[in-house]
Amino acid sequence: MAIASILIADDDRNLSQTLAGILQTEGYEVTVVHDGQSALEAHQNITPDVMILDVSMPVLDGLEVCRRVRATDERVIILMLTAQRQVDDKVGALDQGADDYMTKPFGTRELLARLKSLLRRTTYGPPNP
Ligand SMILES: [Mg+2]
Repeated sequence: MAIASILIADDDRNLSQTLAGILQTEGYEVTVVHDGQSALEAHQNITPDVMILDVSMPVLDGLEVCRRVRATDERVIILMLTAQRQVDDKVGALDQGADDYMTKPFGTRELLARLKSLLRRTTYGPPNP
């Protein structure tokens, strides 16, 4: 099974770096960007298997990134990160083509479990399934 590549787009640099470290330790290939425009460019350049998208980001928000990516890419798995109690964001994320969402703050084990679950139906997966 090929190792899944994951693009993290979140303007919270502490969270994104911490998350990147955890996912790299799990064996995933990880790229980190901090705004929506960079997320679109990285999607074009590295064609990730998974995009972890923060909703609230500068330049382009995560919902808009999700909508634009889905217009051309039905394959990539999109996991949105929403602020606590932003029900509209969760509904919007799914409406725009996201596969799943997590509410901040979230636990590492839950995120890893959701990733494995989302990847289960693809040809990609974690290195130690
Ligand atoms: Mg944010």
